[in-house]
Amino acid sequence: FNENKTNQLNNGFANTCSYDYDYIVIGGGPGGMASAKEAAANGAKVLLLDFVKPSNQGTKWGLGGTCVNVGCVPKKLMHYAGHMGSLFKLDSGPYGWELGQIKHDWDKLVNTVQSHIHSLNFSYTVGLRSSKVKYINVTYYLKGDKTKEVDVTGKYILIATGCRPNIPEDVEGAKELSITSDDIFSLKKAPGKTLVVGASYVALECAGFLNSCSSPVRLCFYICTLTYTTIY
Ligand SMILES: Cc1cc2nc3c(=O)[nH]c(=O)nc-3n(C[C@H](O)[C@H](O)[C@H](O)COP(=O)(O)OP(=O)(O)OC[C@H]3O[C@@H](n4cnc5c(N)ncnc54)[C@H](O)[C@@H]3O)c2cc1C
Repeated sequence: FNENKTNQLNNGFANTCSYDYDYIVIGGGPGGMASAKEAAANGAKVLLLDFVKPSNQGTKWGLGGTCVNVGCVPKKLMHYAGHMGSLFKLDSGPYGWELGQIKHDWDKLVNTVQSHIHSLNFSYTVGLRSSKVKYINVTYYLKGDKTKEVDVTGKYILIATGCRPNIPEDVEGAKELSITSDDIFSLKKAPGKTLVVGASYVALECAGFLNSCSSPVRLCFYICTLTYTTIY
């Protein structure tokens, strides 16, 4: 434990004998993992707890949080696939390419994306181990909750639990009949004609790659605090 580093840390992590861990991080996304590794590199005894509550449709995934499993990483791979399709379908003719009928295999795309994600899940688990961060795949509840599954104490606790897609409660059938970005990247069958509800970057990016790789997409969002809906 480096003396200079002790001084940089408010109160230091050194005199924490009465706790199981100096630092407990709840959430194994990019935020939680970076913080856990940094604290361990500064000499702290660190525990990281991560657990994925399945999506409405039962989709689950491994370590790495939203970004790796159902966010930035699969989104970029699917965007890349969509971009290739657009190049072939829309742009290649005037540049002299003569292509036969172009078909897209959704199943192959999902397999490629999921294999890449699994390799990252593995490397993150190894990375935590080599950084000397103890990792437990469990849901964390603060003390007092009777459903608590892990009983540890920590001097400092970081809550880095991220967030999940929100399905409006007041739209009948939405929970049972719709999927979210938590499901799209591992969907077994191409979704076909899709209505994408929302106008954030997540909605727009999903609409973009679905339109190129699968079938036509309609985008629906509210303008001016729910006064009317626009469909493109
Ligand atoms: C489709 C999509 C595309 C995106 N594209 C980009 C992009 O291109 N660039 C970019 O910068 N960002 C992008 N993002 C956003 C990015 O994924 C998030 O900003 C980032 O993952 C947030 O990291 P985090 O560590 O705060 O939380 P998260 O990554 O959400 O991780 C939190 C973790 O905590 C776990 N957890 C929650 N509650 C508990 C509990 N009680 N006990 C234990 N564990 C718990 C969760 O299951 C999760 O594993 C995208 C997001 C989506 C959905």
